[in-house]
Amino acid sequence: MSRPVALPRIVRRKSKVHGFGVFAKEDINKNRRIIDYAGELIDHKESYKRETRYLKKGCIWCFTVNRRWVRDGNVGGNDARFINHACKPNCYSQVIGREVWIRAAKNIKAGEELSYDYYTDGDQIIQCKCRPGCTRKL
Ligand SMILES: [Zn+2]
Repeated sequence: MSRPVALPRIVRRKSKVHGFGVFAKEDINKNRRIIDYAGELIDHKESYKRETRYLKKGCIWCFTVNRRWVRDGNVGGNDARFINHACKPNCYSQVIGREVWIRAAKNIKAGEELSYDYYTDGDQIIQCKCRPGCTRKL
């Protein structure tokens, strides 16, 4: 696994958007790698079973890596799973092999909450709260 020497400092704390969120502790330049989305590698069949369970609690933990694999951030995950969805996010996800990286989509200031677009393709039962009046469902 190729990991950059230093990833930017981030912190998990209560978010106004939803539950916990992840915030920049330093300025982060556009396109910089921030954190990898860790989690158990499972297939889509298993993911569907788990996701149904998680959604009942209002949580989205399963990240689709490709047609074969999904990462379950609820099992063996890191703080990346607490990064909230936003429809106009300041980060994006990039799949490299079986790894998923969260990268800065713009220059981010220290203290800003991190977010990326989940691009969910599931049952879409969770109301998006990324901003007042958002009508999207996840
Ligand atoms: Zn939204």
